[in-house]
Amino acid sequence: MKNFPISNIDLNGNELKYVSEAIKSTWISSTGKFITQFESMFSEFCSANHAVATSNGTTALHLAIEALNIGIGDEVIVPSLTFAATANAVLHSGATPVFVDSLKDHWNIDAEKISDAITPNTKAILAVHLYGHPCDMSRIMKIAQKHNIFVIEDCAEATGATISGKKVGSIGDIGCFSFFGNKIITTGEGGMCTTNNSNLNERMRVLRDHGMDKFKRYWHNEIGYNYRMTNLNAAIGVAQMEQIDLFLEKRQMLRIQYDKSINFNSNLLKPINSIFGNEVEWFYNLNLSSTTKVNRDKLINELSKVGIDSRPFFYPLHLMPPYLKYKTTSNNLINAEAFGKCGINLPLYPSLSLENVKFISTELNKILA
Ligand SMILES: *Cc1c(COP(=O)(O)O)cnc(C)c1O
Repeated sequence: MKNFPISNIDLNGNELKYVSEAIKSTWISSTGKFITQFESMFSEFCSANHAVATSNGTTALHLAIEALNIGIGDEVIVPSLTFAATANAVLHSGATPVFVDSLKDHWNIDAEKISDAITPNTKAILAVHLYGHPCDMSRIMKIAQKHNIFVIEDCAEATGATISGKKVGSIGDIGCFSFFGNKIITTGEGGMCTTNNSNLNERMRVLRDHGMDKFKRYWHNEIGYNYRMTNLNAAIGVAQMEQIDLFLEKRQMLRIQYDKSINFNSNLLKPINSIFGNEVEWFYNLNLSSTTKVNRDKLINELSKVGIDSRPFFYPLHLMPPYLKYKTTSNNLINAEAFGKCGINLPLYPSLSLENVKFISTELNKILA
């Protein structure tokens, strides 16, 4: 039996060469040429003025929130349908997440409902480009300007996605990325904050390194963190950045093949295209219809029996124990709940072949026939 994981890492470029180079140089901790190189390649890729490498995507989000002085008593607007790390980073800072629903016809946050959730305590909107699809940034930026609040972009699943030619992560005040093993590029564990604001860049660099004064060693004006990336991780990152355009192209081709090979019908809907910009293909995102009799979790189980790994969409955060208390009565989150119930992710990664996608699609078609 073939075995298709949901995601797989492609390390066939210069990863080993650069990691060996880092080891031979003994620069394996959080200083070294690969860190600066990775940061400059990444900021150039995103057309952002600055990029600050971090230990992972969650620390990138937390670093961004801290750099914007958001904390206890503040509220941050987040979509309910996202990976838990988005809201956790808000909670780590002491601020309160305010959950907003998804659009009816798209899983991303409904910008119109953001306005309703804004209070005098709102400090930022944490906009998530979920499953590779850009969210409604032009609307979100307008709302933020009107209320004089910040915008943080969670680009963890959308490295390379664009809106009107601009890369995600270069539009809001700070963009946050993840390089976990299943993301568009990986460094093992790793993250990045992008910004066009040089003050925020400086502040994130200080907070990343224990809050230590840039010029006066061991002098701390505030409490910081150790959120640094190692030169080893950055060495992998540089090699991955050399291949990112190729990765994105391959992902696009696989998406097209899935679209061609799957039999869509009233139970299984055609995949949603992004509305607000050009997406990148992360997982392949399927949605069962809301009226379907197909049991999503049973389908996942059937797929696994033939060696195909698949995942349910994220559960909306407001339904899970740690986050229940943040749901307010004014929040109407039915669309997030519908997507959470009906969504399935299928394997999509650069080393998957078109033949593999045909096989997976055929197996899916058989199960659903
Ligand atoms: C992966 C992910 C994160 C967290 O990244 P880590 O590197 O795993 O800490 C945050 N937000 C979203 C939407 C993600 O998918």
